[in-house]
Amino acid sequence: MKKYFYTDGVEKHGPFSFEELKQQRITRETKVWYYGLEHWTKLADLDELKAITNSLPPPLKNTKEIAEKQGEIANEMNIKISPSKNRKKLIRGGFIAFVSVLALCIIFFFVQKQNQYNLYQEIKSSSYEADVDFDFYVEKFYRDIAVYGIFPKKPTTSIIKFAKFDHITDATHIHGISCAINDDDKIEIYINPSTWNSFKKPLRYYLIYHELAHDVLNLDDLANSSENEGKLMFPAIASYEAKTMDEFIESSHALFEEVAAKWKN
Ligand SMILES: [Zn+2]
Repeated sequence: MKKYFYTDGVEKHGPFSFEELKQQRITRETKVWYYGLEHWTKLADLDELKAITNSLPPPLKNTKEIAEKQGEIANEMNIKISPSKNRKKLIRGGFIAFVSVLALCIIFFFVQKQNQYNLYQEIKSSSYEADVDFDFYVEKFYRDIAVYGIFPKKPTTSIIKFAKFDHITDATHIHGISCAINDDDKIEIYINPSTWNSFKKPLRYYLIYHELAHDVLNLDDLANSSENEGKLMFPAIASYEAKTMDEFIESSHALFEEVAAKWKN
């Protein structure tokens, strides 16, 4: 009777009869030898042992094929996953852009603040006491607004001085500048002496009341457009050259009426 041997790659097992070989833990890949064979040969390649081969389950795909299949599956998953990945990337990109713009705005804001502060320091350091009784204008201003029922907090400090700032290119601030807007404890106004000396009485009132309205009532300039022309908070005061005292009184009282309406609410 023919005797068969097989090897698990390390050890040789056998001899076995055909029936005994069938019972062994062998696969189609197991190398088998029997007398008459020149080499150890894969079971699947031996016609003589086909009866055994056919009784064994087909081999698992080899590792390379398995790896390839896994790769394909992974690729397919990636294709499915990528749209949400892209969305995440887009969201992240948008977020980074948003933060960058915000940072630029903050930097811009602080640069502007710094420039404003530098301008203020420059004007302040060049300021000097004027031989003008500015307190007279301040007291009159407070009396005028009191008539309308406007009683803002009386500031503890009042500085109104001359300061030369003809060189400042911002046209709305070459005549006078209020530096204590939103600071209710302080009036701080600088008036350009060359402006003051060239301005006639109504224009001087326009200027000082305009700056006091900034400082005491915390009002902003109106837009420099034709519909605001004639109003006290119109930024281009110098254009009022031909105005009369009556026009000044009319425009200042119109403003106080407006402020009083808000003051009551
Ligand atoms: Zn102004």
